[in-house]
Amino acid sequence: MPSAKDLAQSVRELTRKHSAWFKDCIPLIASENLMSPAAREVLNSDLSNRYAEGLPGKRYYQGNIYVDQIETICEDLAREVFACRFADVRSTSGTVSNMAVLMALTKTRDKMTTVALSDGGHISHAKIGATGMRGIRTFNYPFDEKNMNIDIEGAKRLIREVKPKVALFGQSVFLFPTPLDEMKDVFSEVGCSTWYDAAHVLGLIAGRKFQDPLREGIDVISGSTHKTLPGPQHGMILSDLTKEGLETSLRRGVFPGVTSNHHLHSVAALAVTLAETREFGEAYADQVIRNAKALGQGLFERGMEVLCEHLGFTESHTVVVDVEQFQGGAKVAKNLEAANIILNKNLLPWDSDPVRPCGIRIGSQELTRLGMKEKDMVEVAELVARVVVKGEAPEKVKPDVIDFKRQFTKVHYCFFEGEEAYDYPAFDGDLK
Ligand SMILES: *Cc1c(COP(=O)(O)O)cnc(C)c1O
Repeated sequence: MPSAKDLAQSVRELTRKHSAWFKDCIPLIASENLMSPAAREVLNSDLSNRYAEGLPGKRYYQGNIYVDQIETICEDLAREVFACRFADVRSTSGTVSNMAVLMALTKTRDKMTTVALSDGGHISHAKIGATGMRGIRTFNYPFDEKNMNIDIEGAKRLIREVKPKVALFGQSVFLFPTPLDEMKDVFSEVGCSTWYDAAHVLGLIAGRKFQDPLREGIDVISGSTHKTLPGPQHGMILSDLTKEGLETSLRRGVFPGVTSNHHLHSVAALAVTLAETREFGEAYADQVIRNAKALGQGLFERGMEVLCEHLGFTESHTVVVDVEQFQGGAKVAKNLEAANIILNKNLLPWDSDPVRPCGIRIGSQELTRLGMKEKDMVEVAELVARVVVKGEAPEKVKPDVIDFKRQFTKVHYCFFEGEEAYDYPAFDGDLK
């Protein structure tokens, strides 16, 4: 049996191998991103050893003199970047944010309208996830498969029929803005609360490039802070406090509702990320969307069935491809991994077998953070197509992936661009 020291040493080595591998990979997972050097610095600080409960100035124990100032800066920046009256930056992930919102807006047995999992909805919106744990009855919007969006008339009919306590929107496969303006009248007609899960698109909303849910009839936004928003793995809740008592119930939903300590190092890293977003967020979001469209076009021209060609493939960071003709999503994703191209298989609305999805999902945000532009997307499309369409052996494509990727080593759209994107501080040598 290996000694405890050997095991600790192995974990260090595996972690290094992971980082070295990702440096040589083309990262296309739509829910991931790269933090800036300044955000990584504060994430990797003593803050990660500390505790705080409650709100700045109203803590349950000592030691939070600087933590309070950091959290106040973070909240102020969040309100400014998203132009809203209320921000809570303490939920520790997107799912935890959703649990807090569920606690704030619903009671057991309440009815909620949601996007179905197969149409891109998230597990936390479903019976098998957090929503089910709250005992919520869910009803799925009819979906327009051709346009990969909610069917407006169908959704209006459903909301009128069901009269939900809450209408929830937002997806994990999120190609186009949700038609909120078009449904707004129905929300007020039935008097439901409205909630928008922006986990995937928070960075695009911050850059004013996707949609503006709080100005389109939404009461509460929740989200992850590490997908298109390139921050630490954490969560966030935003609102304009359009309903009576919302501030108190959201605060209580987060704490004591679903968190105790709220990961102070992540709050600091989020604050840095939001400051950088205020400075560079519009240029970044603009390029993310341009790159996604270019990637969609590049894959399409190389014989791949990219969804929604008639709509320019996407208005977000994501493109989706039906790869049924190339052995399906699972096999394609696995083959690409062997060529150092990392993405995931994904259910499509017309999938009949949930364990054999026919789609793959691709995100442009991390490549954009590395400074890539439209012309680089054409190269990425070519590398993907060599494996998927031309059927070249992944091992043959892999060296070209590595050569290509080594041109892009730094994070852009941030302060202190100098640091290598995938290198974290480490001490040399073996454990003594
Ligand atoms: C990723 C995602 C979440 C969950 O976020 P975590 O930070 O991973 O907990 C919630 N909702 C949607 C729509 C997502 O895509």
